[in-house]
Amino acid sequence: MRVIRSKTKQAERLKDQADLVCADILKYAKLIGLDDEWRFAVTFKHLSDCLATTEAEVEYRKATMEFDLAAISKQGNDLIAPTVRHELFHIPCWRLHEITEALNPEAEALMVKYGEELVTFLEHMPVWKELK
Ligand SMILES: [Zn+2]
Repeated sequence: MRVIRSKTKQAERLKDQADLVCADILKYAKLIGLDDEWRFAVTFKHLSDCLATTEAEVEYRKATMEFDLAAISKQGNDLIAPTVRHELFHIPCWRLHEITEALNPEAEALMVKYGEELVTFLEHMPVWKELK
């Protein structure tokens, strides 16, 4: 399991937060049961409408993750761990996300909405407070 980090200005400017994100990716990926083959390609950059995004290539055990550290750090470092968990939970849900492309627009919108709700529920499970 490893994190491949791209060199961006945001990653240089907010190095401490970038280090925390990378450490939390490895910590929580293990805790949620992703196997050692997984590689996480991580980019820190401005995102216009969200704090982070994740896409997965499950068959190749590769995830592409983007984090807007400037937006995250405005709200404090306490937001890093839940954001990382949220993004990691998109990985085991990715197969469901793939089938949304085969659905009609209304069903696709519902699938995206319920997928986000599920991932957000998992992100906030009480077990994470006990592990702190
Ligand atoms: Zn999400």
